[in-house]
Amino acid sequence: MRTIWMNQLSWVDYEATIKAEQPPIFLPVGALEQHGPHLPLGTDGLLSAAVAADTATLVQGLVAPTLSYGYKSQPKCGGGQHFCGTTSVDAATLIGSVRDAVREFGRHGATKLVFVNGHYENQWFLIEGIDLGLRDLGPGAKLQVMRLEYWDFLTEQTLTSVFPNGFPGFALEHAAVIETSMMLHYHPSLVRTDLIPEDPPADFPPYDVYPTKKNWVPLSGVLSSAKGSTAEKGKTMATELAMRMADAVIEAFK
Ligand code: ZN
Ligand code: MN
Repeated sequence: MRTIWMNQLSWVDYEATIKAEQPPIFLPVGALEQHGPHLPLGTDGLLSAAVAADTATLVQGLVAPTLSYGYKSQPKCGGGQHFCGTTSVDAATLIGSVRDAVREFGRHGATKLVFVNGHYENQWFLIEGIDLGLRDLGPGAKLQVMRLEYWDFLTEQTLTSVFPNGFPGFALEHAAVIETSMMLHYHPSLVRTDLIPEDPPADFPPYDVYPTKKNWVPLSGVLSSAKGSTAEKGKTMATELAMRMADAVIEAFK
């Protein structure tokens, strides 16, 4: 069986695979962003790549290298830009990278491209980059693009079992139970469970101010507690995500 990793193929093998199989090509998108004291800066890209790889395995897809820098971290979903290590790009930069990727994969003759987003703040800039990239390719292009945020594929049932005391919502799930559990499943050696903070969930007003107020955000950078994270929960979520994303990819490109 061939590798799923595009960057491990020669151009000759890649071209042959594109021509013979028309595989869906997964392009994970992440961020370099603080994720509390217990998770690595690259968490969003590591997780989007991991779920993309599991999904690609189910649908005989390929996984392209991750776009590892994301749009600016916002206090209410990523802690904000004031943390050391958080390294973000302007909207125009992200839009440009996505636009270029769409145009290049279209030129290769790929027909199915799937952006797997792992960083909340990226969403609208991915949409814009995809739109501009498809416009560059023109109306005769054979490329279809799918975009998803992987967490949207978790079922109510799974969220209820992962959060027996109530689900705080995806925005506050920054460096919290979902990401920590999934990192314990995929990359256990990168998680410092002994450093998980005790902070209560962050409580934000229904507006934003600029410059942002650092005191809105817990000093740890964690927006709701990661206590209760387990590798087992991570495995349950990862398995569900890959299966449901695979079904969606098949359906979307039918
Ligand atoms: Zn994250
Ligand atoms: Mn993020």
